[in-house]
Amino acid sequence: MAFSKRKKKYMEDDEIIVIDNVTKSYQAGVPALSEVNIRIKKGEFVFIVGDSGSGKSTLIKLLLRELTPTDGGIYVLNYNLNKIRHRKIPKFRRNIGVVFQDFRLLKDRNVYENVAFAQRIIQVPGKQIRKNVPAILATVGLAGKYKAKPNRLSGGEQQRVAIARALVNKPAILLADEPTGNLDPRNSMEIMRLLEEINEAGTTVIMVTHNRDIVNAMQKRVITLHRGVVVSDQERGVYVDED
Ligand code: ADP
Ligand code: MG
Repeated sequence: MAFSKRKKKYMEDDEIIVIDNVTKSYQAGVPALSEVNIRIKKGEFVFIVGDSGSGKSTLIKLLLRELTPTDGGIYVLNYNLNKIRHRKIPKFRRNIGVVFQDFRLLKDRNVYENVAFAQRIIQVPGKQIRKNVPAILATVGLAGKYKAKPNRLSGGEQQRVAIARALVNKPAILLADEPTGNLDPRNSMEIMRLLEEINEAGTTVIMVTHNRDIVNAMQKRVITLHRGVVVSDQERGVYVDED
């Protein structure tokens, strides 16, 4: 296949994401991202930090192929996202779980249904769903809550449901865009412990955050964006103030 050559060229075997000199402009003026280079290895835990408007969510959307770069290349798993065919995008996205600040649960469905839904859309057999959903709910600490509607849960519990939904299809990568943004410090730390466990079980985790206490406590790789430019990329980093 032509692509295996490409993969050799752009990506090492132990890498899962390569962002190669990416610029993204929405309109004339300062680009949302400028000449960004990031290489992420399988199994890494990476924080993306930076002020509001620095390009963090744009980066997440590029990785999901919701956006395409204005210039540069993006490689995720075995996919060259600049070349991927439209009909292959859903299959590509099955490799990636996503969690947002505002949870995005189905309000009229209970916890079980919210998670099972993610399996139904990829046509997992019912018998398998009935096995997988309770297992993942136990992993996120919600074994006893599967009949509850989201509005009966705390923010921390709702985010656990969203994480279970993101993980039930066993993605290689979890993208989390400010997942603790609506949570108090105690719930935030519990979510962080859960994300760390998920990472230790083998999932590559990329988390966007504003929360310096979390970043400083976790001692993971920290990539800082400022006005669309990577201004630092540190192993076991700390939150750097840019202003
Ligand atoms: P962050 O997530 O770090 O707050 P974003 O990636 O959302 O930053 O935004 C980066 C820049 O791109 C900002 O200047 C923002 O206003 C701009 N931007 C984001 N989305 C759009 C869009 N859909 N159209 C035009 N400009 C956008
Ligand atoms: Mg954002």
